[in-house]
Amino acid sequence: MNEHESEKLAGFLTEENYEATESSAAADVIVLNTCCVRAGAENKVYSRLGVLQPLKRLKPSLIIAVCGCMAQNAEAFETLKTRFPYVDIVFGTHNFDKFREFLKRRAETGGRVLEREEEGGPVCEGGVYRRADKNRAYVNIMYGCDNFCSYCIVPYVRGRERSRRPEPILQEIAELTARGCREITLLGQNVNSYRGEENGAAVGFPELLRRIDGLPGAFEVAFMTSHPKDLSAETIAAVAECPKVKKEIHLPAQSGSDAVLAAMNRNYTAAEYLALLDRIRAEIPNCAVSGDIIVGFPGESESDFAATLDLVKRARFSNLFMFMFSERPGTPAARMPDKIPIAVKKRRLNELIAIQREVVNRLNKRE
Ligand code: SAH
Ligand code: SF4
Repeated sequence: MNEHESEKLAGFLTEENYEATESSAAADVIVLNTCCVRAGAENKVYSRLGVLQPLKRLKPSLIIAVCGCMAQNAEAFETLKTRFPYVDIVFGTHNFDKFREFLKRRAETGGRVLEREEEGGPVCEGGVYRRADKNRAYVNIMYGCDNFCSYCIVPYVRGRERSRRPEPILQEIAELTARGCREITLLGQNVNSYRGEENGAAVGFPELLRRIDGLPGAFEVAFMTSHPKDLSAETIAAVAECPKVKKEIHLPAQSGSDAVLAAMNRNYTAAEYLALLDRIRAEIPNCAVSGDIIVGFPGESESDFAATLDLVKRARFSNLFMFMFSERPGTPAARMPDKIPIAVKKRRLNELIAIQREVVNRLNKRE
């Protein structure tokens, strides 16, 4: 999502007659489009800003901007404002589309532009993306998230779920494929709850997939992310039946323990998750399923963790993204007792990586 939004920022800069430079030292404008899903992402931003400070001293006309999820967070916004006075422009996710206006204001007044909006407005259409790859493109179908998984900061920094209308999505894809794009990836925090408005009625995700599949040209379409509680039989059928839809589903499990899944507010059990995988594999032959797992969630016991290892063995993920729980201020999980020590989290992560490696080795041997 961030990578794609950076393509939009690059598009705005192209419209203002800027060109990409080879190095930071040659740049007139440097934009850090930030993530805050885990503490590690935030720390990278602060250390990068430390590296940029001498550049600004050498070239006072350099404009440094920080935007995106981390800048949307009230606390981080305050830190950027007070501890990093050499950052010229700070703006969040809700006023992302005003970047050009902020740049102009900075040029006209010479003063800092510090803008954060509490609420997200309606979806903005008409962004000009400078896409990095001609053959592959991301297309956003929705913004925000309403799920409030207890560990996750996304709903707080990206606001409520808002879907784009089907018409501009289809038009964007038709234009991309007409220009030779061969692979489209639809993006949303939870694509299965897509509901695009059309003549007063709602178009759901399976219908959107079928309409994209009906567009002319030779291309493939993938999508992410699917929440297991919302992946419907209709979506599975659409993936199975549409020749242009890639046979792959990213379906984060997060844990194999029912107690941890409940504390995470995920709204499914491990058995329900595995049953869903069985349905997917029965209806979509050779479907590649990838997942996400968090280890060390507050209160995760050795037996909870063993249940996760068990789920991973059974799930046979072709690809698995594995994370240590990272406490995000303001989320319910940050206030939960029984935090897991870092050494235990690291050990569990390593065990999980080893198990997943065995799964992949076995899958590869079978092919
Ligand atoms: N909407 C998507 C992506 C969310 S962020 C989804 O629901 O899957 C991508 C992944 O980051 C999540 O699936 C989760 O595994 C991980 N993640 C989110 N918050 C986290 C946290 N506080 N600590 C560790 N991992 C986290
Ligand atoms: Fe975060 Fe859960 Fe929303 Fe994904 S579905 S973005 S993990 S709150």
